[in-house]
Amino acid sequence: MPATPTQARRIVLAARPQGEPRETDFRIETFTPGDPAPGQVLLESLYLSLDPYMRGRMSEAKSYAPSLAVGQTIVGEVVARVVASAASAFAPGDLVQAHAGWTTHALMDAKGLVKIDPAIAPVETRLGVLGMPGFTAYAGLREIGRPRAGETVVVAAASGPVGSLVGQLAKRDGARVVGIAGGADKCAYVKKELGFDAAVDHRRDDMAQALAEACPDGIDVYFENVGGAVWEAVFPLLNTFARIPVCGLIADYNGTTSRPGDLTVPALMRGVLSKRLTLRGFINYDLDSYREDFLREVGAGLRDGTIRYAEDISEGLDSAPGAFMGMLKGRNFGKVLVRLAK
Ligand code: NDP
Repeated sequence: MPATPTQARRIVLAARPQGEPRETDFRIETFTPGDPAPGQVLLESLYLSLDPYMRGRMSEAKSYAPSLAVGQTIVGEVVARVVASAASAFAPGDLVQAHAGWTTHALMDAKGLVKIDPAIAPVETRLGVLGMPGFTAYAGLREIGRPRAGETVVVAAASGPVGSLVGQLAKRDGARVVGIAGGADKCAYVKKELGFDAAVDHRRDDMAQALAEACPDGIDVYFENVGGAVWEAVFPLLNTFARIPVCGLIADYNGTTSRPGDLTVPALMRGVLSKRLTLRGFINYDLDSYREDFLREVGAGLRDGTIRYAEDISEGLDSAPGAFMGMLKGRNFGKVLVRLAK
């Protein structure tokens, strides 16, 4: 068992990013974690999850969750090992999920921790396909998208942990699935490995036309992960009574892509009314009642190999800012993780 460390490392927000985050917006600090107080455990992080929502926390703009303060450890979920425990429910060596943030070690209240059984699936999948992103796909599709056999489902960021599961679940429902992804390699993966019916590269100049050709019967479910130019291409293709789980808008997280002439609010609302669209925003934890079904169905799919996933793992805490900045630009291929310890 690893000894209680005297020195640990964490990454804090050094400055609020203006547009795209830069290296100088992050700072590494060393600290001494100390010993757990009654009810606490000391954790050593094994994997850190990097997720698009973290960009929102770095900004001051009002959102569904509070902003990070400058100087605060960047938030995030980790898979960790208990190193020392002063809580009866946990012993050294236990594996847990925790909201410890970008840090090698953390003292945490035992109350918020979830134990992980490593026999079910590789532990890091608890941060991806079998964790928050996978659950987001599952619950958003089941509650809002509700694809029926023969309908057309479109999802962007299609090779990532949310989009890849949205498409695979919609295929199970008998839908025709079109993925949108950046570049030839991701498009090939989405079609060949994930079994989508078609893939469209959003970096092509003629993306809107390519999407129209890939959706000859229009779009019945558009699982919105990106916004921006993709949403503009999707909107005219929506069928009457289309459902749109509004999950993420990553094209605009850096606030650099908005321009005059984007789908204006009056045009959008005319379309919502005349086509009787269901457009519903959601945050994954709103839909907790789906959690058991998600773990059962997706867990079984992982075990029998019918659900596929990709991971993009970088090594060491220092790699986190670069990997995060790359994800916002689509440089990742699969769920973005940072491995901190074996
Ligand atoms: P991914 O791992 O798929 O990473 C983000 C991907 O977004 C990039 O790889 C890139 O893929 C794509 N992207 C970035 N910029 C653009 C752009 N301008 N146009 C089109 N695509 C772009 O992320 P996740 O699967 O973790 O998350 C997907 C979405 O779901 C995000 O918007 C996220 O915020 C949202 N989300 C929402 C939750 C909720 O509770 N509502 C919970 C979890 C995630 P590519 O190269 O293919 O373009």
